[in-house]
Amino acid sequence: MDPDSVQGADAEEAAYTAAADAILNAARVVAVTGAGISVESGIPDFRSAGGLWSKYPPEDYATIEAFYDDPDKVWELWYELAETLKDVQPNPGHRALAELEQMGRLSVVVTQNIDALHHAAGNTSVIEYHGRADTLYCPACRRRRPLDLSQRALGAPRCVCGGYMKPDVVLFGELIPTTALHLADSLARNCGVMIIVGTSATVYPAAGLPFIAKENGAFIIECNTESTQFTETITDIFLQGPAGETLPRLVEKVRNR
Ligand code: NAD
Repeated sequence: MDPDSVQGADAEEAAYTAAADAILNAARVVAVTGAGISVESGIPDFRSAGGLWSKYPPEDYATIEAFYDDPDKVWELWYELAETLKDVQPNPGHRALAELEQMGRLSVVVTQNIDALHHAAGNTSVIEYHGRADTLYCPACRRRRPLDLSQRALGAPRCVCGGYMKPDVVLFGELIPTTALHLADSLARNCGVMIIVGTSATVYPAAGLPFIAKENGAFIIECNTESTQFTETITDIFLQGPAGETLPRLVEKVRNR
């Protein structure tokens, strides 16, 4: 065997061991997840060529102004997305985070994803920072209800109060709900370890959470297929690869230490 690859494998194993030890020694561990953790469940990210934004430009379909201007048009995108999401299942990456919570080693997942897959995997402590696509919200009377895909032909869904309902997601131009915002900020300030998974760190304020954690002394573990703006700045251990492989390996290490 090539000595370089032996050395590489040893260094990789040492990185998993150090990450597991950091998790075991921390009073509070927080995970921050993005679109990358759901790629192996078959949900593409929105940005790449052929992704959602190339068919539905966000300025026309995903802003709060567009919703008020033409709710039927905006709902074309959200119904299509809901069709994509309705049969997806959590993958080993989601399940590894659920196991980490069950082991008492993960306090909370802060996710930017709107696919509800952390709940489906079994995590009970989840902050859905950008909301969820399977739920409707009425801006007029604040009612919520599940999305019913059989109503798609009727266009934008109406609330019992008469107003148009929007997807219960944070559209561009909307603020993050205050509770999620403050809770996530406080968790970032008060965690010993933050695990960042599958986020390109371009959407603020979510992308700021790891920096807040680092400034307050947290140890940063990053899982991604590629490096990001975190990797060379604040990441302490970078576990490179698909989250469906890196997270189960990390959790196995935690279990067996
Ligand atoms: P992003 O698309 O900007 O970045 C995805 C990141 O994941 C990249 O850094 C990429 O290298 C990495 N990645 C890709 N495949 C991976 C894998 N198998 N394992 C680990 N990492 C992998 O995503 P973002 O930073 O979350 O920002 C996108 C925004 O769009 C979010 O705010 C989110 O709300 C929304 N979004 C949600 C979903 C979803 O709910 N599943 C999907 C796409 C986008």
